[in-house]
Order: sequence, then C-alpha cells, then structure tokens
Amino acid sequence: MTAHKRRRVIAGNWKMYKNQAETRAFVTALKPMVADTTDCDIVVAPPFIDIPAAVQETARRGTYVAVHATGEPGTLYAAEAGVASIEHAFQLSDETMRLMKQKGIFAVPTFAISEYFAEHPVTPEQGPREHQLLEIHAREFRKQLAAGVPIAAGSDVGPFPHGTQAREFALMVKYGMKPVDVLQADLLNGAKLLGWPKEIGALKPRYFADVVAVPGNPLEDIGVLSHVTFVMKGGVVYRRP
Ligand SMILES: [Zn+2]
Repeated sequence: MTAHKRRRVIAGNWKMYKNQAETRAFVTALKPMVADTTDCDIVVAPPFIDIPAAVQETARRGTYVAVHATGEPGTLYAAEAGVASIEHAFQLSDETMRLMKQKGIFAVPTFAISEYFAEHPVTPEQGPREHQLLEIHAREFRKQLAAGVPIAAGSDVGPFPHGTQAREFALMVKYGMKPVDVLQADLLNGAKLLGWPKEIGALKPRYFADVVAVPGNPLEDIGVLSHVTFVMKGGVVYRRP
C-alpha cells in the first residue's frame, strides 16, 4: 500500500489579525509549515464565517473541518456545526463539552506549543502569559476528561521544531490522562480523526506496516516516546537502533 493524501482544511482565527496585510502574512507563514507534512487547503476564517456551510461543503468534497479555537461562543458554534475536531480547546462550556461527547468531536489539547512558548517567549510578556494559560488549560483538560470529551493527540508543531512533538504525550500524562489513554488518543483516535481508521493506528492485516520502537515501556514512562530508536513505514525500515 502506498500512502495517500487527504486534503484538510485549517480554519484560522481572523480576528487575531488587525488587517488584510497581517492576515496575508499569517497565511504565507503557515503554508511552508504544513506543506512538508500534509497536502492541505488553508482557509482563514473571518469571524462571520458560516461554519455549518463550511462543514457541509467539506463533507461534500469528502473531507472535514478542524478548527483551532478556544473559548465561547466560537467553540460552541463549531461543535454545533459538527466539525471533526477542536484544536487547543480550552475554556469549553458544559454545553460544548456535551455536544463534543455526543457527536464524537475530538479535543486536541496541543499543550506542547504552549509549553514551548512559555519557555521560549518571543516577547517578555509572552512567557508568564503562556505559563498562566497552561495552568488554565490543565484545569480545563481535567474537566474535559471528566465530561467524557473524546481526546486526540496533536501538538501544533511547526512554530516549534519538528521532531520534538512527542513532548505532547508527556504533557497529556502530566495534566491528568493515563498513559494507556494517551496512546489510544494518539493511535486510535488519531486514525479516526484523520479518516484512516482501517489503515493506521493498529497492527492488523491490511493496515500500513507503520511501526516505531522505543527503549522502554511507555505505560511506565511516557517520556520514552521521545526516544524513537526504530522506524518502519509502509513495511520499509528507515531507522534501526
Ligand atoms: Zn492552532
């Protein structure tokens, strides 16, 4: 089997950008970030976007919408419209969490990027702000786990270096998820979210033979996932110990 690509829509947050020039700069900066990992359509969503129409149109094209969103009422609008996932996803109302559970909409917490910018602030104010956000997000994450919101793993890597994003797993454990649940969030829920539930995420006949090995038991120390010593992709070995 050869890997196939599926187009994906990223909806950004227009209101972060004061004018069209800033928005264009954002899109230009975003493109190379995603180009090396995925074939991706980028849509920067103005606040007045019709999210249900976006969801319907992407479904018609055989794909789906992932929103990077925090807070209300934006995340509620997204959940009502039936997006596939809400990235970052802190400050969700009870109703949003209920809908996400009911519709199987994944929250993708992306703690790694918050930690990265907490520790590598671009401006002096950013460090303390990101630390504060991480604390808020950690509390919110526990609420989401208790409410039964489906969780998938994702780091928002790109603004920080590719190859370091396994840190996300350690942070998901640190903030309240069991290691086995983190692995399932990554492997099983990740496969579902990408629309490849019968191709990746498990070692079964007719699935891609994608395998990594790590020096230890991630159920005892999730940190070992940052030290991948063996990589097989599509049955071909790319790295050996
Ligand atoms: Zn984002």
